[in-house]
Amino acid sequence: MWRLNAFRLDILHKSGIMNNSIEELHGRAEDLWREACKEGQAVAAREALGVSAFFAERPVYESTNMALKDLVSQVVEGRPRVGNEYRRVVREAGNPAAIAAIDEVFEARDAAWRGIGTIPASGLGLRAAFAARDAAARFGLAPDPGVADTSPGCRCGDVLLGRLEPEACPLFGRACTPDAPVGPCMVAFEGTCAARYRHRRA
Ligand code: SF4
Repeated sequence: MWRLNAFRLDILHKSGIMNNSIEELHGRAEDLWREACKEGQAVAAREALGVSAFFAERPVYESTNMALKDLVSQVVEGRPRVGNEYRRVVREAGNPAAIAAIDEVFEARDAAWRGIGTIPASGLGLRAAFAARDAAARFGLAPDPGVADTSPGCRCGDVLLGRLEPEACPLFGRACTPDAPVGPCMVAFEGTCAARYRHRRA
């Protein structure tokens, strides 16, 4: 299962498609599997690690299978589109009650995204009726466009936009590691640079 998924993920990577949660799970399953295969490993530990690797890999199997099926359908139909691959838990219309509650309190606003810049109507702000509770306006907390939001040399924005592989950042694995992150993509385990660093293959 792991090898099949590695093959599938490789196909997706070549098309610039990456899902960090899936990469993380896949890498974790590999770590468990390698541990299970270690020489001198006790039989009981080997079995337990093998089972854990199987269960870590199973969601990767379903997700990569669905993503590839969807891509093949789009090519066959000649109709590129954004697809919902979480149909088992997310309906096309979303959660109407939650959408109505959010809509009552918030409205779409331009938002600044770290390393990327401002994207029109990509964020939410409190509606006028709730302005008294808007801490950003009350305490003047709006980001200063004159202040860089990433460290010098960090290419997180390009990594997040799929323009740059993490390894192509000159700081990757040298000045920037999960133990000493320079940029936000290396901080959390699901960060693109962190996932690539922890599970890069020789
Ligand atoms: S490797 Fe570090 S410095 Fe480079 S883009 Fe990733 S987080 Fe930023």
